[in-house]
Amino acid sequence: MTHCPYCGQRLYEDAIICSACGASLIGEDTGWQALQIQEKIDEAKQRANIRIISAIVLVTIGMVAGGVLCVSSNAIGFFGVAFVCLGIGCMASAGRHELKARRLQKQLKL
Ligand SMILES: [Zn+2]
Repeated sequence: MTHCPYCGQRLYEDAIICSACGASLIGEDTGWQALQIQEKIDEAKQRANIRIISAIVLVTIGMVAGGVLCVSSNAIGFFGVAFVCLGIGCMASAGRHELKARRLQKQLKL
């Protein structure tokens, strides 16, 4: 259930016109749209954060594996390099999501 913003009549969620005062309820969704954009911004930011954390973890693992194990085995050292590369990839991905968040934020201010 929702309420008419003009007269307070209780209405169904998908009502287009208020049954009590006849006011049109569509075109009043700018606030809702902003909310949706805000949700997308939060989602993009969250994704960026997850990727930044992943990148830090991967690079750390890569450096430890590469640095420590390179001495004993070249093959495992190579895996370390692969982890660092994955971490860099995650960072690039985080940057993309952050860019998306910023772009959406601009849209919100229009
Ligand atoms: Zn009404």
